[in-house]
Amino acid sequence: MIKLSLPHLAGNEKKYVNEAIDSTWIVPLGPFVDRFENELQQYLHAPAVVALSAGTAAIHLGLVMAGVKAGDEVICQSLTFSASCNPIKYIGASPVFVDSEPRTWNMSATCLRQAITDRIATTGRKPAAIVVVHLYGMPAEMDAVKAVADEFEIPVVEDAAEALGSTYRGAFCGTIGAYGVLSFNGNKIITTSGGGALVCPDAESAERVKFLSTQARENRPYYYHTTIGYNYRLSNVSAAIGCAQIEELPQRVERRRAIHAMYVAGLADVAGVKVHTNPDKDFNSNYWLSTITFDKSIISKTPDEIRVLLMEKGIETRLIWRPMHMQPVFADCPYYCGEIDCSRAIFESGLCLPSGSSLTDEEVAQVIEAIKSAVTLD
Ligand SMILES: *Cc1c(COP(=O)(O)O)cnc(C)c1O
Repeated sequence: MIKLSLPHLAGNEKKYVNEAIDSTWIVPLGPFVDRFENELQQYLHAPAVVALSAGTAAIHLGLVMAGVKAGDEVICQSLTFSASCNPIKYIGASPVFVDSEPRTWNMSATCLRQAITDRIATTGRKPAAIVVVHLYGMPAEMDAVKAVADEFEIPVVEDAAEALGSTYRGAFCGTIGAYGVLSFNGNKIITTSGGGALVCPDAESAERVKFLSTQARENRPYYYHTTIGYNYRLSNVSAAIGCAQIEELPQRVERRRAIHAMYVAGLADVAGVKVHTNPDKDFNSNYWLSTITFDKSIISKTPDEIRVLLMEKGIETRLIWRPMHMQPVFADCPYYCGEIDCSRAIFESGLCLPSGSSLTDEEVAQVIEAIKSAVTLD
């Protein structure tokens, strides 16, 4: 079976996990947590990074740090995984969904502006935060999004869970907004088995995130609380895995980019198939997942029919994230799009291809051949 994206061992995982166990630091803090944070911070050129138990936890605390409170509205890109917006509900706030633009598949600044002005007109209050996503590793049009956010003075939380190593105009995704979210789930660029991180604007906010993520215990000899806390810190054992994984991070990103380049070359002459690619030199995706879209006027099969044909050949592909405004659980939330519902169109025409950094060139070639025969066989 050729899988979508599998964990890829770097070499030192067992060694570091054994060190963690031998040192009896088998708790949600410790030397490997500090080291992992430092290495992430250096790699990203970020002011501060806090390692957490999941990317979802990082989104939750990013929203808390951005000042989101119960009863607020929070804007979120509709074309994403539900983890981008579930934490809005954890706080008791309400999501407002915004469409994507076709170049990056990420938040449309035009629809964002429309959403903000309409929410102010409707509710009398501006939204409390904006969650923008770098989907499949492709950076969002951050200058345009930030220009609107800055105009209305609304903080931006960047969901870079899929975009570790991607850059936008030379800056790493996750370091451009007020807060940035990373994920180290098993299927991401690097893994800690499960984990995440919040990129913070300064050491002071990082201290606050550490405080909130360890049950908000005040510095007293007894347990004393003035704030609601969370149990969101990364385990030292997981961080040991992360320290091994990050040693190979640049190579992992390069490999995903090489796999994308093979798909671009291999599918270039297939009519009706388009590989989603950096729109210009400002965007440098890590290509966490290579994705393609099918032109309905040329290819009669649906993406799901093609997915099933590939599955029969032992190749795992996945449909595009179903947009949040099309999810029953968010059916009551407002949604802002232009004349064309871009995120729905991408969902209905796209497919994610096997992209894990452990794939061999032969396996990628096999996927390309299988796509060619699936789309020509009518
Ligand atoms: C994986 C992912 C998350 C959540 O990360 P976890 O570590 O699994 O909690 C959030 N947003 C997006 C877009 C993701 O792909």
